[in-house]
Amino acid sequence: MLIPRVEKGNPINLIGYVIELLIDNFICNAKYIIAIYLKSNFIVYWTLNRIKTMLSTPVCIIGAGPAGATASLFLSKAGINHTIIDKAIFPRDKICGDAIDGLCMRVMNTYDKSLVEEMISQPHIFNPSMGSKFVAPNGKEARCYHKPVSNNIPSTMYFVAKRFDFDFFLVNKLNPNYADIQLGATVTDIERRKDGIIVTYSKGGISHQVFTKLLLGADGDHSIVLRKLSSRKIDRNYYAAAVRMYCKNIKGIEKDNLIELYYLKNIPYGYLWIFPMANNMCNVGMGLGSNQASKRKFNLVKEFEKIIATDEVLAPRFENCERMENPKGWGLPMAGGKRELVGDNYLLLGDAASLINPLNGEGIGSAMVSGWAAAQFAEKALANNKFDANSMQQYQHQATYRLNTDTKFYNNIVKVFPSAFQHVFLNVFIGSGFAKNLFEKEAKKWMYNSFNTPLEIKW
Ligand SMILES: Cc1cc2nc3c(=O)[nH]c(=O)nc-3n(C[C@H](O)[C@H](O)[C@H](O)COP(=O)(O)OP(=O)(O)OC[C@H]3O[C@@H](n4cnc5c(N)ncnc54)[C@H](O)[C@@H]3O)c2cc1C
Repeated sequence: MLIPRVEKGNPINLIGYVIELLIDNFICNAKYIIAIYLKSNFIVYWTLNRIKTMLSTPVCIIGAGPAGATASLFLSKAGINHTIIDKAIFPRDKICGDAIDGLCMRVMNTYDKSLVEEMISQPHIFNPSMGSKFVAPNGKEARCYHKPVSNNIPSTMYFVAKRFDFDFFLVNKLNPNYADIQLGATVTDIERRKDGIIVTYSKGGISHQVFTKLLLGADGDHSIVLRKLSSRKIDRNYYAAAVRMYCKNIKGIEKDNLIELYYLKNIPYGYLWIFPMANNMCNVGMGLGSNQASKRKFNLVKEFEKIIATDEVLAPRFENCERMENPKGWGLPMAGGKRELVGDNYLLLGDAASLINPLNGEGIGSAMVSGWAAAQFAEKALANNKFDANSMQQYQHQATYRLNTDTKFYNNIVKVFPSAFQHVFLNVFIGSGFAKNLFEKEAKKWMYNSFNTPLEIKW
């Protein structure tokens, strides 16, 4: 309240005082009115924030990475309404080596052949690579090429593209006619009900709830679905850590953009990679098994920096390297452990299901396969109105069996060659030409299947 300024006995001052008082009071009242208006608005906003709108959806997917986006694409293809939620707004970064392999192409070709064609037509984003170069701990090299056996198959063995672009490419294909797409929406809680699951997510500060009969957990390594409905126990035998760094001007990039894998004597069960990208960029990184990392008290970033600065083959290649970022780390949940992928009213996909290939660290393809398989099982569950774990048990087999050969191979190497002798195996395997023969023979099959054999479930 304003204090009146008036001199006693002065009528002019008195009139002035009255005018001043009126003005002041008007301003004061105006202030009060504004304050009350703002306060009431705040109360309305605050109340709205706490009102939970509950929607119902037959299938709800958490995560719009390769696993979740693929599930959504195939659900839409089958005409199934669903909700897909991701905390990120796309495009978004994901720490990865960015090698998109034949398995990814197989899933995309199963969905719609135009997807891979679209990627081929954009080499400035999706850099094509014709194969791999393996370097043994003793420095012996094997350059392995994919040689197309028919005109139907392009010579691309991998695409290397930032996940920023690839994941955005997939998310852009989601079909809003069937998919209720909620991006920038963080799932904060998951509650089990007798007949389904309630998912709570927060978007723009407002809390929402969705009830679903079937939840697809495609929310990556730190999955909230795992934490709330199952358990996120890390099996260090099947878990790896890796760092990635984008950079420019690496010397000696291989002709045909071969992706390069260096197996180093001091990095058992792991490798350093150089994956060439468009625009003179490379994705460079290094990863190794968690068991080894913790046994050796290994600081991954420090070791990585040391190797690219001092290794006699690698260091000269990094002389003019222009870093686009500092090395960034993330975990790799690998296949082979005992994770249950199926529960009442939910399925786990991709990294949430620990589906990374332990032999090479590739997980995008198996994440997409799990997305495709989950959509098939969702369709069946909805048709039979059965969402219990028993009825969907076969999903586990469908999501994992393509990894079995590589997982067995990995387990045998670990058993037969303990870490101290692993370099012996790699020197012989790569140096003798065996790796090249095996790779090129297998590559023919992978790529043939990728372009000619759509995925199918034999029920
Ligand atoms: C360093 C490194 C290198 C790799 N290199 C390769 C490679 O070269 N090739 C290859 O094939 N694989 C590679 N992988 C593995 C690959 O990155 C993963 O297997 C793949 O990303 C799995 O896909 P996903 O869809 O299951 O999970 P993600 O890609 O992790 O997607 C999960 C999504 O869930 C969302 N999410 C998470 N929590 C929530 C929440 N609470 N609410 C809402 N949304 C949420 C996230 O925002 C994210 O978009 C690499 C991994 C690492 C760490």
